[in-house]
Amino acid sequence: MNQQWNGKRVLVLGAARSGIAAAAYLKAVGADVVINTGSEPTEAERAKIEALNVKTVFGSHPLELLDEAELIVKNPGIPYQIPLLEEAIARHIPIYTEVELAYLATEADFVAITGSNGKTTTTTLVHELLKGGERPVHVAGNIGFPAIEVATQAAPGDLIVIELSSFQLMGVEAFHPRSAALLNLSEAHLDYHGDFESYADAKANLFQNMTPSDRVVVKGEDREVMKRVPTGLSAQTFGYEAGDAHVDSGWITLHGARIMPVSELALGGAHNVENVLAALLLIEPFDIPSDHIEHVLRTFGGVAHRTESLGRVLGRHVYNDSKATNNVAAEAALTGFEAPIVWLCGGLERGADLTSLVPAMKRVKAVIAYGETAERFKTLSESENIPAQAVATLDEAVPLAFEQSVAGDVILLSPACASWDQYKTFEERGEHFVKLVNAYEEANR
Ligand code: ADP
Repeated sequence: MNQQWNGKRVLVLGAARSGIAAAAYLKAVGADVVINTGSEPTEAERAKIEALNVKTVFGSHPLELLDEAELIVKNPGIPYQIPLLEEAIARHIPIYTEVELAYLATEADFVAITGSNGKTTTTTLVHELLKGGERPVHVAGNIGFPAIEVATQAAPGDLIVIELSSFQLMGVEAFHPRSAALLNLSEAHLDYHGDFESYADAKANLFQNMTPSDRVVVKGEDREVMKRVPTGLSAQTFGYEAGDAHVDSGWITLHGARIMPVSELALGGAHNVENVLAALLLIEPFDIPSDHIEHVLRTFGGVAHRTESLGRVLGRHVYNDSKATNNVAAEAALTGFEAPIVWLCGGLERGADLTSLVPAMKRVKAVIAYGETAERFKTLSESENIPAQAVATLDEAVPLAFEQSVAGDVILLSPACASWDQYKTFEERGEHFVKLVNAYEEANR
């Protein structure tokens, strides 16, 4: 099966965890590997690379590397516009991401999830649901291990659930999942792809090798998504209002059969209901017992920092949605609640137009904005007659959110901005928020 790699000259671009994993795999199956990085690797990376005993070129991407390369495996974060890749394209040297390699490396079946928002939540939920079936299941991608590592550990017939970004999907050719979902499409990552069409088309690469016997899952109400279902494939649709999986009289339904009342789902928010609907369609071909499905839906409260419920705190329902780093994600969180919301928002200034948030602010009773964009959120809110305060940090914002709310209200951190003005990552921001909420509760019991 792996004969194809024997003696093949492969250039691995990027030395982060997935690049190193790809190089290790290729070396093990007999390829002639060169690792090339644009910058100097860290000490830890260097040690791992040295242990592989392959050729290395660090610090720049010399074009001569292409003279020896039959194939390139690139880290999804490296843009196609660097001279080395432009030249590789001109010379018709295939450029894969690690996902393609992972696919070629295993006889396990893939369940793949992409979309602008909801990937991690849906992938994690699908993984939990599939654990109830007969086939061993693994998870790969952002939340798990690099796909190539998982692929080499999976046995034939196992399942691999994988979250795929558009960056990863640009570098696939034979990748053929057995069940796959395109959750939604909105304008994200345009700085990398340049325009919406090429971003959306990259996502649609997900379906390119699928056949009518595979499971294709799409959001029926999303026109951009529906445009990208290849003719000849019959897609299963989900949507809050309508579709093969939808909500009917407060119940989650699948092909008309009632599964569970929405009110009994552990996940909160309308967008998460959509993720549940998509997950049910994705797992349907794998015969998961209904008691396991019910148990997971009742207990799976979401992934940390994604509209993650912190439970009732001094009577308020508190949610950490630190992962919402753009308008669309924050809009989804804001429209997901019935109760009045005190909204904590703000962060890195990227000059984004905030006005698209306005329709989602119907339930917002007060805004506490912080970070570089604080003043702009305050102005936006006041123009909608919503009381707002602008402060410097979350430390000041959290006590204000409690003061502005009463028992039964929602306190929602959903920043609509990246965290990098004050934090290293959105996880660090979310953890700081959780700490501040706990400290406030402790002090005000
Ligand atoms: P991704 O992995 O695609 O970034 P996540 O599951 O991590 O998605 O969720 C990120 C944020 O996107 C969540 O905090 C939530 O605000 C929003 N979100 C989640 N699911 C959806 C959805 N189906 N539609 C729109 N927004 C969503």
